[in-house]
Amino acid sequence: MRFVETWIPATLVSTRDLSPGIREFLIRPDQFDGAAYPVGSHINVGVTIDGQPETRSYSLVGEASPQGLRIAVRRAEDSRGGSRYMWQLAPGARLDITRPASLVAVDWARDNYCLIAGGIGITPIVGAAQALTRRGSDITLHYAVRGRADAAYLDDLASLLGDRLVVHASDEDKRLDLDALFASLPKGTLALFCGPMRMLDAARHAWIGAGHPLSDLRYETFGSSGTLPTEAFRVRLKGCDVELEIPRERSMLDVLNASGFEVISDCKRGECGLCAIDVVAVDGEIDHRDVFFSDHQKQSNAKICACVSRARGTITVDTLLRADAV
Ligand SMILES: Cc1cc2nc3c(=O)[nH]c(=O)nc-3n(C[C@H](O)[C@H](O)[C@H](O)COP(=O)(O)OP(=O)(O)OC[C@H]3O[C@@H](n4cnc5c(N)ncnc54)[C@H](O)[C@@H]3O)c2cc1C
Repeated sequence: MRFVETWIPATLVSTRDLSPGIREFLIRPDQFDGAAYPVGSHINVGVTIDGQPETRSYSLVGEASPQGLRIAVRRAEDSRGGSRYMWQLAPGARLDITRPASLVAVDWARDNYCLIAGGIGITPIVGAAQALTRRGSDITLHYAVRGRADAAYLDDLASLLGDRLVVHASDEDKRLDLDALFASLPKGTLALFCGPMRMLDAARHAWIGAGHPLSDLRYETFGSSGTLPTEAFRVRLKGCDVELEIPRERSMLDVLNASGFEVISDCKRGECGLCAIDVVAVDGEIDHRDVFFSDHQKQSNAKICACVSRARGTITVDTLLRADAV
């Protein structure tokens, strides 16, 4: 189950390679008026994986443009195939997309802003940097990359921000020290973060450690590859004689719903917590891949976000679905 989204037809106008692993796509909806969208907005794109319709989300790069909507897709090799589908598209391809929507609220009235991007997490940050620069805000962007050759939009950001762009390239031994960075920020700074899950975990710890309120760290994740390898695991349903296999390429949420054990959900990114279900027993290990539960809640293993989290071995869950209640 998912809340209603409005899908609109669109055409892929052009593509451009930004680095060996990142390709930009300019997409023009059929009825396009170039209207402004909130900073941090993303669109969903209909993709086909193994002949089945699926959805992948992509952040819009930069502020609104009359040319169309710009996204940049990193080609994920260890994946189910959404990004590979995007990469095989040629200009002229027809697409179904959703209207832009933002999950990140930016408070524009701060004195200081700290933007942090890890790898492909730069995509929603470009528009934020443009909007804040236009407003004359005090911003610094810390951009963590493996190497400059992998970094998208480096030249654009350098000309926009000058020395307020700080590149932390691992291959130059310039790793981002989040503890030191956050400790140096004045109180009242708003941080906007987008990067991989492990980097987000480190950012949350460093942010709290530096004494800033967690509500001043606004973030977006693109989904997590977790801490355990992505492999098949088994789910037992409490109170009935059912055991399901969750294959490597499907989520627990999809398998439960397809098997008639309906679990409501919304974001499907491990952010909203709507699909959290009770865990009764763990024979193996849970790999919590959500950003909804606290570290303490994850350690307790009392609940699991069925949309993104996985496991090794067998877990017993209670979806609270009662056959006699439906
Ligand atoms: C709001 C939002 C904005 C986004 N913006 C961008 C963007 O600007 N650019 C961009 O490139 N991407 C973006 N993404 C990510 C994007 O939607 C896709 O997830 C990405 O393209 C990978 O899709 P895939 O099918 O190739 O890989 P997936 O199969 O989704 O794999 C991605 C990762 O998950 C792991 N994985 C593999 N199988 C499973 C499984 N069965 N269950 C769980 N995890 C698994 C893999 O190890 C891999 O590391 C965004 C995501 C969100 C939610």
